[in-house]
Amino acid sequence: MSGERRRLTVTEKLEIMARQARCPRCHEKLGQLKGLDWDHSTPLALGGADTPENIQALHRTCHRQKTSGAGGERRASVADGDQHKIGKARRLSAAQAEFRALLLAKEPGMPREKKSRIPSRPFKRRSA
Ligand SMILES: [Zn+2]
Repeated sequence: MSGERRRLTVTEKLEIMARQARCPRCHEKLGQLKGLDWDHSTPLALGGADTPENIQALHRTCHRQKTSGAGGERRASVADGDQHKIGKARRLSAAQAEFRALLLAKEPGMPREKKSRIPSRPFKRRSA
């Protein structure tokens, strides 16, 4: 789930590292740049911004766990993963849409559905 993230510049990476110093997941020191992944604290799919402020550095291995759920084991821990949150957000908005549709359907005075939903297309008639 890497979305459409832009590439961070080295300066931005160092800026992020200077801000946090430790991996937010395991709380160990971050270490070398090349062993790190750059993760949106609030996933883009959940409306997070694609800016260094919303990006955190974490160990590649820790990032993998964050994305798929802690340890990648069983349900309880999967609830921790971004994919789960994203899926949940999608399900929620689907439920909300359904609810809205229900409300609208019950609205009094709503005109009954018109005879035809497909507008009749006037065919060009040209006497040849
Ligand atoms: Zn870590």
